Amino acid sequence: MSGRGRLITGTTRVLCILGHPIAHSLSPVMHNRAIEALGLDYVYVAFDVAPQELGRAVQGLRALGVAGATVTIPHKEAVLAFVDEMEESVRWTGAANTLVMRQDGALVATNTDVDGVRGALQAAGLRPAGGKAVVLGAGGAARAIVAALVQEGCRHIVVLNRSPERARRLVEELAPRASPCLLEADALSEQSLRRHLADAQLLCHATPTGMHPHGDQSPVPRELVRPPLAVLDAVYRPARTRLLAQALAQGCRVASGVDWLVCQGVEAFQRWTGHRPDPALLKGALMEVLEP
Ligand code: NAP
Repeated sequence: MSGRGRLITGTTRVLCILGHPIAHSLSPVMHNRAIEALGLDYVYVAFDVAPQELGRAVQGLRALGVAGATVTIPHKEAVLAFVDEMEESVRWTGAANTLVMRQDGALVATNTDVDGVRGALQAAGLRPAGGKAVVLGAGGAARAIVAALVQEGCRHIVVLNRSPERARRLVEELAPRASPCLLEADALSEQSLRRHLADAQLLCHATPTGMHPHGDQSPVPRELVRPPLAVLDAVYRPARTRLLAQALAQGCRVASGVDWLVCQGVEAFQRWTGHRPDPALLKGALMEVLEP
């Protein structure tokens, strides 16, 4: 990287994100910062791909020799119809957030959100092994959390969701993989929160509650968030959500959605380029564009 900026030449490899809409994605900021810092000959760009164009877009990645891609809403599940291989993380989550073009030309789907959750927990010094966790939400983020907690040796996970049948479906699907970890489903309500948080060590939030522009909302009554409970919030906009602020004010340990976003990005970048960027660098790039 010179003072005149990065030189894009005939050898520059392309990385990209496929989503719809895509203009507000933070991934280009994060990955281009990593490319610059490591002095690599890559560029990361965003493509707005309408759902009916997804198959042609993935064919385009193959035809153009794109090195790798991030996949985001609404394509995370639909993209699986167009890949050659799916890794274990995709079997847990039913979705991919990353495509890797292997040397032999195979397009491999993976889900680095599972690594992202594990990385965010580790960065915060949280060790779920042997403990009980409560997960709010039953969508893609919740599935990544359940996978990560099982891999970390969690003993008991309760999934609470607004639509209880979706939580039950998640538990039915994942329980065989999760054993010996006990998975349970329940409806999300103040009573169920009170009951299940009473003996839990970790609360993981995976719904959009509290996301910008609703940053004044929290998914949990304040009095239920207190030590020894630790908190992971998937929401990263704002960086310090109301839930995390409540938890910090009570002296709870927290892992943020920004750290999750950074850690999933580090894993994806390493898979694409063989280089592992410094998480602090990626976090710095994100914090320049995020609301505090
Ligand atoms: P999703 O698959 O659409 O699932 C959304 C979940 O939130 C569902 O369980 C849904 O419940 C619940 N929900 C939605 N609105 C709600 C409300 N008003 N009150 C209570 N529950 C509500 O979404 P997702 O991909 O799992 O993402 C969830 C959140 O995680 C988003 O904010 C996303 O930005 C964040 N996320 C962050 C990262 C990161 O890197 N930090 C990665 C992935 C996701 P129903 O089933 O009842 O509809």
